[in-house]
Amino acid sequence: MTTFIAPQRKLIQWLSTLLLLLIPFVQVGGDSLLRLDAPSRTLLFFGTSLRIEEFSLVLLVILIMVFMFLFITMVFGRVWCGWLCPQTTLSDLAEYLISRMQPLILVKPLAMVATQLLFLSLSFLVAANLIWYFIPPPEFFERLLHGRLGMVASISLSATMLLVYLDLAFVRRLFCSSVCPYGRIQLMTTDRNTLVLELNPQRAGDCIRCGSCTRVCPTGIDIRDGLQIECINCGRCLDACRGVMAKLGKTGLIHYTFGSRETEGGRPLNIRSLLLGGVVIALCGALAASIITRKEATLKIRRNDAVQVQRLADGRLVNFFTVFIQNRSKYAAIYDLKVTTANGHTAELLGPVSGIRLAANDNRRIDLVLRFSSASGSGAPFTLLLMRGATRVATVPLQILEK
Ligand code: SF4
Ligand code: SF4
Repeated sequence: MTTFIAPQRKLIQWLSTLLLLLIPFVQVGGDSLLRLDAPSRTLLFFGTSLRIEEFSLVLLVILIMVFMFLFITMVFGRVWCGWLCPQTTLSDLAEYLISRMQPLILVKPLAMVATQLLFLSLSFLVAANLIWYFIPPPEFFERLLHGRLGMVASISLSATMLLVYLDLAFVRRLFCSSVCPYGRIQLMTTDRNTLVLELNPQRAGDCIRCGSCTRVCPTGIDIRDGLQIECINCGRCLDACRGVMAKLGKTGLIHYTFGSRETEGGRPLNIRSLLLGGVVIALCGALAASIITRKEATLKIRRNDAVQVQRLADGRLVNFFTVFIQNRSKYAAIYDLKVTTANGHTAELLGPVSGIRLAANDNRRIDLVLRFSSASGSGAPFTLLLMRGATRVATVPLQILEK
């Protein structure tokens, strides 16, 4: 019995599209699974919140994506394009709608309007789906219905809608071969072991030149001419040839292969791919370790240069500081600031240093005063503590000035 790969390809294609649509609706611990929250400059990433100030973590996430992309491209070629890319799904959908509407369009011009309206609805869905990665869907709809979407979101929504509509109505497959840079990038990452489709060279003589493989190709190429940049690894030609050859009692002539047999490929797990895979694993490990060991809150301090150091009549000195507290955890917390002393000095903190309530991901700037007995000698005899109850969350040395 002849087996075709189209059902599996369509299933994977639709599941991945569905995943992209549904991810913004998924919540972990009351927050989005994956979203860039612009107002708080925070990346909500699978249950953890990475603030833009934690640039090293955000950079790790970006690096993981880049190296993962390079690894997948090196091993599996353009399988992403043919099996997973939303652009391919949209093109398939647009072509399906056109094929169903075409007979009607010839007799009822209204069908043409209906097709364009369907394209517009799809454009809205795609554009809204993109915005949902920045504004949670319930908030998006609430703001949209009340005309409070905001300028940036409105412009992004309209511009994306327009681009997707033009893509659906006029561009479709042309995008893959002419606009999308992925095919060009792929040339740099693929090697002779990358997964490709080819006409089996050992059976080229069996080809009956029926042309079925070229007729079904969405990018309009002839796989018999060898590997071409336009090929998106969709496998339609493979299915077409299997169908033709089955009628002759033979197996198909086109197959997936890790590297062409003519170029002596066949080793997807080679030094380059293993190296790239190793980098991805190492980066994931570094990200996991950084997230596990990151502090629940940060404490930063700078001298308040607007106010001079003062010496009181009783001989004590007064220094002025500005501190910045950031609650990086996913929960609201109440903090206290305390000071510890060394070498028998006495010191007290003045200012709003107790019961500092910070919502999750919130920041607070506090101006405070340190009043202390003269601390002879150099160094930092005082340490500022950020406490949550009895837990010491963060510490920072206080560099004092004596008059
Ligand atoms: S050559 Fe085959 S695999 Fe490549 S795009 Fe055309 S139909 Fe798809
Ligand atoms: S479908 Fe198969 S037999 Fe027909 S032209 Fe293509 S490779 Fe040859």
